[in-house]
Amino acid sequence: MTAPFHPASAPDYVPAPHLRDLQLRKLQEVVNRAWNRVQLFRQRMDERGLTPGNIQTLADITTLPFTVKTDLRDTYPFGLFASPMQEVVRLHASSGTTGKPIVVAYTQQDLEVWTSVMVRSFAACGVNHGDVVQNAYGYGLFTGGLGAHYGAEEMGATVIPISGGNSDRQIMVMRDFGVTVICSTPSYFLHLIERAAQLDVDIRELPLRVGLFGAEPWTQSMRQRIEKLTAIQAFDLYGLSEIIGPGVAIECPEKDGLHIFEDHFYPEIIDPETGQPLPDGQEGELVLTTLSKMAMPMIRYRTRDITSLIPGQCACGRTIRRMSRIGRRSDDMLIIRGVNVFPSQVEAALLEAEGTLPHYQIILTRMHGLDQMEVQVEVTPQVFSDKIGALEELNEKLNDALERVLGIRVRVTLVEPHTIQRSEGKAKRVIDRRSQ
Ligand SMILES: [Zn+2]
Repeated sequence: MTAPFHPASAPDYVPAPHLRDLQLRKLQEVVNRAWNRVQLFRQRMDERGLTPGNIQTLADITTLPFTVKTDLRDTYPFGLFASPMQEVVRLHASSGTTGKPIVVAYTQQDLEVWTSVMVRSFAACGVNHGDVVQNAYGYGLFTGGLGAHYGAEEMGATVIPISGGNSDRQIMVMRDFGVTVICSTPSYFLHLIERAAQLDVDIRELPLRVGLFGAEPWTQSMRQRIEKLTAIQAFDLYGLSEIIGPGVAIECPEKDGLHIFEDHFYPEIIDPETGQPLPDGQEGELVLTTLSKMAMPMIRYRTRDITSLIPGQCACGRTIRRMSRIGRRSDDMLIIRGVNVFPSQVEAALLEAEGTLPHYQIILTRMHGLDQMEVQVEVTPQVFSDKIGALEELNEKLNDALERVLGIRVRVTLVEPHTIQRSEGKAKRVIDRRSQ
């Protein structure tokens, strides 16, 4: 599958030497801006004996201090702003799991950049004017809804700002309005697929053909499930509020990594333990520098997302670099009896087996001081109604698969369809009751 060329995609194909020149010039500008206007950044530069004049090449970026999420909390609400409030036209906030949210700001120019990268994201997925986009990302302080909204509108598509929730109405709209593109979390779309079946709506018979899914990590196995159930093309959309919102990176029809819009976001991969830069192809933590942000420049922001930069050029011809799909975040690592476990490993192992449904949950408890991990997964009605042997066989198969992947024995519980609670936004995959 190839998408026709969209003029907004032109910056995706800029020859690499030009791109590097542009990045260096923009890096120097943004460092200068942050140094002049953001106290925390200037202080950290001073501690290292650095001034903006020390940035002579792109490689010099590695001398700059990192920014981390707690910096946003510590300077709550506006301490990292580089623009006066008179120039800030929008605020978003992301809810922290603990305490205060983090606040992000946009100037008019920042919003234009955000819109442009979302246009390029839609274009990479073959979306164009004439498409009808059901935007089921949450509207509000969360960046997902408005980010996708303005991008789709700017490219001339018809936008349905339905936001998340109310699944029956989502399905009615999808069917009655001739929706061709859906934007949501992958887990919410799975929920819609399931609800549609209950309402006797066959999604495969609708004009829906493309999904842009993001805001939570999802695996290749999950993509295969979605595409098989619906006959749509499912693309991975990446972004985070601290950097801009959705539209930092997107898959192209090759689905061989996500193209980073690196004329606006400069990527590095570092060793999360030592902070040292890692070469292309090696997995580590993604660090992003905003090259265009005015209101809130982020210099070397540690995303906590684990990925790698893919060497070589994509078959689609884009020159902007790719990163591999993000299967895990360094902060969603679970430590079970001293072993590191990532929910994405569990997801992949579960969904590679026949008979499972893409709805699962990990429950952690502690008994006699020892961590216990239970994986609940729904299975198809066929498996469930079949003679007891089928259930036992699948259970054993999943137990073995998980032990192989995780290195520890966990308890697998097969449950009936619709047992596990569905989410209207980001799925809650892990319930940790160990501190209770
Ligand atoms: Zn590509």
